[in-house]
Amino acid sequence: MRIVLVGPPGAGKGTQAAFLAKNLSIPHISTGDLFRANISRQTELGKLAKSYMDAGNLVPDEVTIAMAKDRMEQPDALGGFLLDGFPRNVSQAEALDEMLKTEGLKLDAVLDLEVPDEEVVKRIAGRRICRNDSSHVYHVSYKAPAQEGLCDECGGELYQRDDDAEDTVRKRLEVYHTQTEPIIDYYKGQDLVVTISALGKVDEVTQRAMEALKREGDE
Ligand code: ADP
Ligand code: AMP
Repeated sequence: MRIVLVGPPGAGKGTQAAFLAKNLSIPHISTGDLFRANISRQTELGKLAKSYMDAGNLVPDEVTIAMAKDRMEQPDALGGFLLDGFPRNVSQAEALDEMLKTEGLKLDAVLDLEVPDEEVVKRIAGRRICRNDSSHVYHVSYKAPAQEGLCDECGGELYQRDDDAEDTVRKRLEVYHTQTEPIIDYYKGQDLVVTISALGKVDEVTQRAMEALKREGDE
């Protein structure tokens, strides 16, 4: 399956993607994680991306699309993928369509995670991620690690993302509403959108997501 996850920052896209990707046997591709890996390797792309990320803005389309395309062309993604954080505006959605069209492929579903802004702010304030692997995500109260400050999966140090400071989060939410939300209408035009509430426990949301994707797949 080729699936796009959409939702505000902090909706739980990464958290859900980890379960869904495993269940569906497809790779989880997060452009945010790819940028963070570039930042920790101190690449030129990482340096460029960091200035935009720390300000809560989108990284320019040209470099983002090239990076996403490169990742989607890796052998493990040829049979399908779960995109998290890409596309993030209508130009990126159009570029993705174009990319798939040249290969004779198309998306199967766009899963839209709905969460009110105030819940997002609470989720992000408590988010801690692992230095070794930014797909290992915790929350100080909702998903606390067994040992404070350490990743359950690999023992890595947990830290708070620079762009998770409250002011930056408000800016990222504004960017989401103005630039990213329009892709939901874009994909509604292709009849691909399934919307679920992302409130409640992590496994309840996973259950809702799997049922919604199954319904979409049956149609
Ligand atoms: P996104 O990838 O959409 O930015 P994350 O998956 O990183 O969001 O989740 C943001 C924060 O909210 C993390 O700290 C995560 O542990 C927590 N979280 C995710 N899903 C839930 C949930 N259903 N209930 C409470 N907290 C959650
Ligand atoms: P995320 O990990 O998805 O919350 O993304 C963190 C930050 O990375 C965003 O606030 C953007 O600055 C940048 N980013 C991630 N994905 C994209 C994208 N598709 N387009 C532009 N910027 C992105």
